[in-house]
Amino acid sequence: MSPSEGRATAEKRYVYDFGDGVADGHAGMRDLLGSKGGNLHEMTRLGLPVPPGFTITTEACRDFWAAGDELPASMRQEVLASLALLEKRSGMRLGDPAAPLLVSVRSGAAATMPGMMDTVLNIGLNDWTVRGLAERTSNERFAWDSYRRLLSMYSNVVMGLHTDHLEQLLERMKEKEDVHSDASLSSTALRDLSGIFQEKILDLSGRRFPQDPTEQLWAAIAAVFRSWNNHRAVHFRNANQIPHDLGTAVTVQAMVFGNMGSSSATGVAFTRDPNTGASFFFGEWLPNAQGEDVVSGLSTPFPMNRESGAVAPEETLAHALPEAYAELNRIKDTLERHYRDMQDIEFTVEQGQLWILQTRTGKRSAAAEVRIAVELVDEGIIDEKEAIRRVRTETLERLMHPCIDATAPRTIIAHGLGASPGAASGRIVFSTQDAIERAGRGEDVILVRRETSPEDIHGMLRSKGVLTARGGMTSHAAVVARGMSKPCIVGCRDLEVDTEGKTLVIGERTFREGDIITIDGGEGSIMLGRVPTAQPKHPPHVTRLMGWVDRYRRLAVRTNADTARECKAAREFGAEGVGLCRTEHMFFEENRVMAVREMILAEDETGRRKALAQILPMQRSDFLAIFRTMAGLPVTIRLLDPPLHEFLTENPGDLEAMAARLEIPLPKVRERYRALHEVNPMLGHRGCRLGLSFPEIYEMQVSAIIEAACILAKEGLVVEPEILIPLVFHVRELEILRELIRSTAEAIQSDYGLRISYRIGSMIELPRACVTADQLATAADFFSFGTNDLTQTTFGISRDDCGRFMPLYIDIGLLPGDPFVAMDPAVGELVKLAVDKGRKVKPDLKIGICGEQGGEASTIRFCHKIGLDYVSCSPFRVPIARLAAAQAALESEALA
Ligand code: PEP
Ligand code: MG
Repeated sequence: MSPSEGRATAEKRYVYDFGDGVADGHAGMRDLLGSKGGNLHEMTRLGLPVPPGFTITTEACRDFWAAGDELPASMRQEVLASLALLEKRSGMRLGDPAAPLLVSVRSGAAATMPGMMDTVLNIGLNDWTVRGLAERTSNERFAWDSYRRLLSMYSNVVMGLHTDHLEQLLERMKEKEDVHSDASLSSTALRDLSGIFQEKILDLSGRRFPQDPTEQLWAAIAAVFRSWNNHRAVHFRNANQIPHDLGTAVTVQAMVFGNMGSSSATGVAFTRDPNTGASFFFGEWLPNAQGEDVVSGLSTPFPMNRESGAVAPEETLAHALPEAYAELNRIKDTLERHYRDMQDIEFTVEQGQLWILQTRTGKRSAAAEVRIAVELVDEGIIDEKEAIRRVRTETLERLMHPCIDATAPRTIIAHGLGASPGAASGRIVFSTQDAIERAGRGEDVILVRRETSPEDIHGMLRSKGVLTARGGMTSHAAVVARGMSKPCIVGCRDLEVDTEGKTLVIGERTFREGDIITIDGGEGSIMLGRVPTAQPKHPPHVTRLMGWVDRYRRLAVRTNADTARECKAAREFGAEGVGLCRTEHMFFEENRVMAVREMILAEDETGRRKALAQILPMQRSDFLAIFRTMAGLPVTIRLLDPPLHEFLTENPGDLEAMAARLEIPLPKVRERYRALHEVNPMLGHRGCRLGLSFPEIYEMQVSAIIEAACILAKEGLVVEPEILIPLVFHVRELEILRELIRSTAEAIQSDYGLRISYRIGSMIELPRACVTADQLATAADFFSFGTNDLTQTTFGISRDDCGRFMPLYIDIGLLPGDPFVAMDPAVGELVKLAVDKGRKVKPDLKIGICGEQGGEASTIRFCHKIGLDYVSCSPFRVPIARLAAAQAALESEALA
């Protein structure tokens, strides 16, 4: 029986104890105990050295709000019982000067929100217990230093005073004592400060700092509950889609101190390198310091071992505190095997004794995320399926992000710690406010700070990259930027940042706000001006992961590609065919657009045919190149779709040039222009309506397709053309055009004396097409969903103009996101209706999607569920789609 089970008689249980190897909770209770709390319970159960304490549930937090910021009475009862147990376990008592128990009051929600909520340390100190602490530890300076830390944290977090007030007093004391660092202040100075701080607190707030430790405890618990709603936390939850009504748990835990002399230390360690994913113990530490010194980035910590970058062995924890280091090394293996993932561990060594204060799944760079997943499979810790589930599609997308073009000339002006990989160029800004303003004007900005604090999250979100003068690889800036996958460099000592004067001095150079720099967060280099970037090559771990991915997915992945070059890139990324080749893009090439215009401006069919005859060989050569590149795979070619006026230019000078070149009188050109003008071109004379009005255009395109296929077939290559008819809304459109395609293809094939296997399909991109899909299926060999047009016509909004109001709609929560990025559920219903109707008539009807949403993970999951055969997306999204398709398949498998 756990020690507190006997007393948990209340209907609701608000408090869970842990300590001495027993715990009431476990890691699976994160919704109730927060992930930090749950993990402390779990680690206690594992027998790891965790300071004893208790966790107050997130439910207590919600009940606290419901009662109008009142701590529930039964929770108070439970806390008092747990406090008594904690006092027994620690052998000390809250408020007892002879053996003063000090506790931390720590926030911790189910989802990690690093640094966003508050924590109060050293609760339990007052004018008497501070003396007891001094005596007990024989360290007067340490005791008074702890007291002044409590006063400043408490006045800020609990009483709501700005930290600047007490900071200024601290600075004044340093001047008076003629010292430069906090650490050099004498114990007398620190003792004096505790009095000065208390006077200032009374002065500013009209309230006294409470000398009663229990009162401190209640107030700190309430303040931590309230910190769930501070603006940083709210903003973070908005940015990370975390619901606002969950609340935070609070863990009250015996304090341990890393600042009790040379055998004390504090640090943060990762079980693997969070930057590269390499399997070695990576960490940073500070001797004689407290945890927040490392996390806040106020001091630059030392590498923990050689592998973490130490240049001299004396710098390392391994050298300074070998026993604690060896134990930590053992614990890291235990934790990683237990949690089956890379862990981020906070530890403190108090006079040689190691304590673990936190473990959590470590944030990692995109490259590390893939490498760790793959290597955990190699080490037998997880299986392939788990690795596929763990690598996020966004991660793969980030790996396709630019890095510095190795061949480009560059001037490196400084180096720091490469904290989050990727490269970015932008204008220097020195504050979050300026970052928001400039980014709002469409500028790329790099946020340059001495160190970042959680307040800077807005600025970091709007910046292309982050650069700080101080802090280590685990500082706030590093952790947050890595999570956002923004290039970030920290601890760059050559930087002199003057935030107020808005200047950055690096050596001889002075930069001002607006000057351009480039940073490479992988290698930690800062470069002058804008340096070109290049797409990275796939690291070997990605290739291995992608090999596994293909074993589990059912959906095929094709690409939307208009040129052989794009096809080649897509094939290298694993595309299994072309799902959409938009032929109009070929018409825009400089040497052809004139022939196209001639065709458009022609007065009759004869004129059009003459112009089309010039275009045909060019189209044929396009298709030859595409088919050759995609040999053996299906290639869907869509017949001409956009309204013809798109190929004409509005510029008067160009108009004259065109008239001259085409030998048509200018007024005639103008007249044709007027005739082609459309009020709503996107709903006008386009798609298959063009093919019905001007069959010779489609005839030319079909001839080019079939001729190219015949030529390659003669060479022995397997070509699978799929001819796609755009914007169909009626089965008769399909029937008529199908016949046109068939007879054209027939003629070409008999000319070449061979038969090509080709298919004719219908784009499904209008609501009427979805509703009549059973009829369309009778005249189509396949369907391809054009969800761009289908979204436009379902919503009645234009994809070209919706940028004016879409941000507002998303901002006020009217839409969860842009329906042109991820498929909207209502559009999804139409798609499903069409699939069901089409397959009712033709059970083996092949169906794919080629709208932009086809490369987006949630849409791919939906496409898998409703039984599509393939998705098609831009070449760079092909790997992402392959991963998403495998994840969708594994998800269905798990549900089945
Ligand atoms: C679509 O409408 O989804 C589509 C793929 O066609 P386009 O974007 O060319 O209109
Ligand atoms: Mg379309």
